[in-house]
Amino acid sequence: MKLTKAQREQVRQKYDGHCAYCGCQLPERWHADHFEPCIRDLKRVEAPNGSVRLATTTPLRPERDVIENMMPACPPCNISKASMSLESWRGWLAGHINSLNSYHPIYRLAKQYSLITETGAPVVFHFERVDGAKGA
Ligand SMILES: [Zn+2]
Repeated sequence: MKLTKAQREQVRQKYDGHCAYCGCQLPERWHADHFEPCIRDLKRVEAPNGSVRLATTTPLRPERDVIENMMPACPPCNISKASMSLESWRGWLAGHINSLNSYHPIYRLAKQYSLITETGAPVVFHFERVDGAKGA
């Protein structure tokens, strides 16, 4: 759905102007994320001049394309979450430590020199801390 200006502002204010996931202050170009993924089909649309673009069709889960399912997200979080469910994404994020240890010698070296400490902390999203504090 295309949000109106007022609806967009409503989503932006859900967590006081912060990203619902990492908690950063939302940048000017923030994204309205579908909390429960709302996967769309892409179809090829050919223009009279022969150029082709991909256009989204009707959402496959139209009941999820509602403002109640929208979360304010910074672009890195929104792009990382993509169309994953929250729990899949949580696991994906936690796995970044393994990727860093496997593929990034600079990371391993920085860790070796105690510049980085792995905490083993669970991935907790900003909205979970905020909603938990409210007793929700
Ligand atoms: Zn974020």
